[in-house]
Amino acid sequence: MERKYKNAAKEFIWQGDKPQSIDNRAAMREDINKMDYSSSIRQEKENLTLYQFPLFQSVPGLVHGVFTRLGGESGGALQGLNLSFSVGDQAGRVAGNRKRVRDLLNLPSLTSLRQVHGTEAVIISNGRGPDTTETPETETGDILLTDRPGIGLMIKQADCQAVMLVDPRHKALANIHCGWRGNVRGVISEGIKHLRAAYGTDPADLLAAVGPSLGPCCAEFIHYREELPEEAWQYQVRPFYFDFWQWSREQLVAAGVRNENIAVAGICTSCRTDEFYSYRKEKMTGRFGSVIGLLEI
Ligand SMILES: [Zn+2]
Repeated sequence: MERKYKNAAKEFIWQGDKPQSIDNRAAMREDINKMDYSSSIRQEKENLTLYQFPLFQSVPGLVHGVFTRLGGESGGALQGLNLSFSVGDQAGRVAGNRKRVRDLLNLPSLTSLRQVHGTEAVIISNGRGPDTTETPETETGDILLTDRPGIGLMIKQADCQAVMLVDPRHKALANIHCGWRGNVRGVISEGIKHLRAAYGTDPADLLAAVGPSLGPCCAEFIHYREELPEEAWQYQVRPFYFDFWQWSREQLVAAGVRNENIAVAGICTSCRTDEFYSYRKEKMTGRFGSVIGLLEI
């Protein structure tokens, strides 16, 4: 089925941008998405606003949230809950914002990385470190993994995706920073490979959530033939616009995740700068955070 889908989608590009081709694609989409869980639910807690995935609610001790920019201490262009020390914000405000996130989820520590659109993984296996709630990141990577309670794995975003993975059987977690460069480099399958190696994860057990990020409404690539590999061209939904949500879903499925275990928020950060930071829309902007962790028992 997947093969047929891909071939047909390519046909759409080679035939030009005819409406009937788009209709065909929509029908195929409907087919591949029909097992989707209902998407994320917006919550307001302790003056913060976050989105949570019902898919994860059945896992005991699991906490998570995609935090919007609403409710933080940062000002100006960074207005709100900026969680990055690297965008010119006052360090005290970033630390204050991160503490709010950590405390709301009842986690003792938060760990994040210097994200570089690569495929390096950092496995948090001993103690709680490195706790980066109040200090800038020292470790570089785009994949965080742990099976230890009390550690919030945080991915910072402004259009890129956070792909959160939960292995309920082994109580192991991954949080992946995935922009289109991450899709190109296979960061999702790399993250799943690490879960397998570190915790014995069977991808068929995984629950996966793709958070708010740049949508097909706004992912315009005029020079896509130079910028995107041919593999990505099949996700062109109208001339020059690409559906990276679908690309990630298919990369998850290709890595062995069941389609019915994937939730895609379907919220576009560039359209929704009232709630999210968008690099593409705002250029000078902050970073919102997606966090997943296990409570200490
Ligand atoms: Zn949009």
